[in-house]
Amino acid sequence: MTEYVQPFEAGDKSQLDLLGGKGANLAEMTRMGLPVPPGFTITTEACRAFLERGDVPPELPVQVRSAMLRLENRLGKRLGDRHDPLLVSVRSGAKFSMPGMMETVLNVGLNDDSVLGLAEASDNERFAYDSYRRLLQMFGRTVLDIDGARFSDALDERKTARGVTQDVDLDADDMRALVDTYKQIIAAESGAAFPQQPSEQLTACIEAVFASWNTPRARVYRRRERIPDSLGTAVNVCTMVFGNLGADSGTGVAFTRDPASGAAGAYGDYLPDAQGEDVVAGIRNTLSLEEMHELDPASYDDLQRVIRLLEAHYRDLCDIEFTVERGTLWMLQTRVGKRTAPAAFRIATQLVDENVITMDEALSRVSGDQLAQLMFSQFDPAAERTLLTTAMGASPGAAVGTIVLDPQRAVEKAKDGPVVLVRKETNPDDLEGMIAAAGILTSRGGKTSHAAVVARGMGRTCVVGAEGVEVDEANARIVCGDVTLAEGDTISIDGTTGEVFAGSVPVVPSPVMRYLTDGVAAAEPEAGSDAALVPAVDRLLRHADRVRRLRVRANADTADDASRARTLGAQGIGLCRTEHMFLGERRPLIERVILADKPEELKAALDTLLPLQRSDFGRLLESMDGDPVTIRLIDPPLHEFLPDRTALSVKVAVARERGDVDPEDVRLLEAIERLHESNPMLGLRGVRLGIVVPGLFGMQVRAVAEAAAARIKAGGTPRAEIMIPLVGSVMELHLIRQQVGHVVAEVAATEGVELDIPIGTMIELPRAALTSFRIADEADFFSFGTNDLTQTTWGFSRDDVEAAFFAAYLEQGVFTVSPFESIDGDGVGRLVRIAAEEGRSTKPDLKLGVCGEHGGDPLSVHFFHEVGLDYVSCSPFRVPVARLEAGRAAV
Ligand code: ADP
Ligand code: MG
Ligand code: MG
Repeated sequence: MTEYVQPFEAGDKSQLDLLGGKGANLAEMTRMGLPVPPGFTITTEACRAFLERGDVPPELPVQVRSAMLRLENRLGKRLGDRHDPLLVSVRSGAKFSMPGMMETVLNVGLNDDSVLGLAEASDNERFAYDSYRRLLQMFGRTVLDIDGARFSDALDERKTARGVTQDVDLDADDMRALVDTYKQIIAAESGAAFPQQPSEQLTACIEAVFASWNTPRARVYRRRERIPDSLGTAVNVCTMVFGNLGADSGTGVAFTRDPASGAAGAYGDYLPDAQGEDVVAGIRNTLSLEEMHELDPASYDDLQRVIRLLEAHYRDLCDIEFTVERGTLWMLQTRVGKRTAPAAFRIATQLVDENVITMDEALSRVSGDQLAQLMFSQFDPAAERTLLTTAMGASPGAAVGTIVLDPQRAVEKAKDGPVVLVRKETNPDDLEGMIAAAGILTSRGGKTSHAAVVARGMGRTCVVGAEGVEVDEANARIVCGDVTLAEGDTISIDGTTGEVFAGSVPVVPSPVMRYLTDGVAAAEPEAGSDAALVPAVDRLLRHADRVRRLRVRANADTADDASRARTLGAQGIGLCRTEHMFLGERRPLIERVILADKPEELKAALDTLLPLQRSDFGRLLESMDGDPVTIRLIDPPLHEFLPDRTALSVKVAVARERGDVDPEDVRLLEAIERLHESNPMLGLRGVRLGIVVPGLFGMQVRAVAEAAAARIKAGGTPRAEIMIPLVGSVMELHLIRQQVGHVVAEVAATEGVELDIPIGTMIELPRAALTSFRIADEADFFSFGTNDLTQTTWGFSRDDVEAAFFAAYLEQGVFTVSPFESIDGDGVGRLVRIAAEEGRSTKPDLKLGVCGEHGGDPLSVHFFHEVGLDYVSCSPFRVPVARLEAGRAAV
């Protein structure tokens, strides 16, 4: 027979899975000898059994009864007795705290008889009826699912009738009257009288907690937070202690350090003569801990002692819930507390300085996502601003622009300056407008809505679910409370905090960003609490650099990007996309390559590109002198360099009508039609181009080799590497490698220098991964192109699917995170693992890296560390994030 019930004194904090967070920590505090009201936990296992069978497991009622009996005997009281009754709270508590589930029912055990007993024992009638009406209200709301407004309205009516504004101003008669009203509401709404039998109340509360695991709200929350549906919740049954016994009692919450700023020293709110949620419900102004000190120094001292014990024990910031009953302190909850990004960095280093944790532990307490938050530009903290509303930050950053309500118009207006696209919600048709906008604001939707998913994918600032903003398309304006803004007016949105401001708020680089680009001193003028932040980030990043095994490179195509990346800590370039060098004014040159009919024409066209490429590479090698620079030969299909097919055919058709066709246009159009592919992602691109367009790769390799030779002669240390994209067969690589080898040897001979240029391949097709043991014969390194590898493994077109259906996939739980954002370990990751292992079995010193977007994603970085890659490469801005996460992966 399974034992589903465990008294607090039998457990500890390691039993998080079985007892839930609240239960495990109540047990731990009991074990530490802290004043926890006695009680027991019904395990998550019981919940799982309940969810499976649709009913509590048969042995549970008996186990609960005997646990209650032990509690009663220990305290010398009976649940719901007519003399000095024992009362309990029934509290849900899953492994991860979860809004949307049933919360807590207090004062279970009260009924028409025991309320008299409570009044008598406490010598406080008002208190007894206050406790009873609270039970009726909580039971009605959370167990019977009655609209909470029914109860709070009745309370308000009573206050109005008595001409008072505060609950505490109601007297015993008022409370008694409210009890009657609440009983009537329950009978009317649920069709049955409030259960007078204490054991029946208890059972109903326990089952309601179990059932609340599967409410739609709870399910939605779990999906968003990536919490498995299978965990279930525990139920804690805890002896009541009373903060609503008068001025010498009260209830409060506290943090052992400030979770917002990270400042040392406890911080909290206390409310005298109150129970449960009163303190956070904002019904009266709360007192600070300092004020509590004046009011009740003995309880305050006890609380401080407990806070010190908890911090020493958990070795981290804890948040706690406590109650004072007639001068005695009781602990009702603790857990390691959530904190903001700046607080996380500050607290981690404070704890090191207090000799509580090691630097390795400190590193594990901060995250790349938190660092990324600290790097985003922010609204100038000193600037004036008018807050319109606070909604959900869906994609971080600070965006300022003119309001546009229509995606088409957004594209137009964006030509004249930044715009913020404001929509009720977005859909795939809005994509162009979203790309054009500096920021996106929606009045509906959550963090998995279309707008949120697409904006995050593009790195666009986005705020969603701004219900306070009415989007009035018909009149081209938005209305927020009494403020109306027309299209064309300026708005500012903060994708981190979800704040929306009227007008333009100045944007400044964050102190952490200033430090990362200019060093510690640059961020120093920051006075006050911010002063500690930059040194904290600095220490933790430097520790990450000391301990990490993965090296971090950047994806950069220009010398400017390369220098920026180097400042941010990049140890080389993992991906230089050479095709970006053919855009802009050089486009006609590559056009000539594409249009060339005869070999001489092709050669001439390539010859004009050669010196341009050479100087590009020269600058790049110079800016990364001494560190590796991986240059990928041209990858995209050639028609991407030609004009738009539709536009040009219209132009030619119109010109034909008029009889003045430009033969160049006709030639271009023919080329476009010839090269047109219905599936370009899988078409003539990458190594395939190198094989069918003679001389194209050769020109690029020559440019690299000549640039390297020139750098050597100038006294530099160029470390160019050549990378071949889209290889699927070792034969492709073999053919190209021969060409490349010849060119490099020839340049070395002509220039009279020794050139050591490794030649490697991208692994971005499943076939390449699966035949990596062969491909390794011809490669000096592998670089996993996980963007393409994700596309080709899933059969997803990256450019289309995010907008088309990823929001639906996330919403319905097909995946919890886009596989383009975090590497899909089971599928795509498995291919990476195979290729890494088999490639190295052929060539033990094969260098392995990754150059997809995943290189800067925290979860993926841990995966690549674990698979044994040598480096990750990511966009320059993500380099510090990757450094930190690579360090965390190593400790
Ligand atoms: P949540 O998970 O929402 O924090 P809790 O189970 O912690 O819910 O209960 C909320 C509040 O109810 C507690 O912070 C405490 O003030 C009060 N409470 C819960 N159990 C008891 C109890 N046994 N005695 C007194 N107050 C209690
Ligand atoms: Mg709580
Ligand atoms: Mg690719």
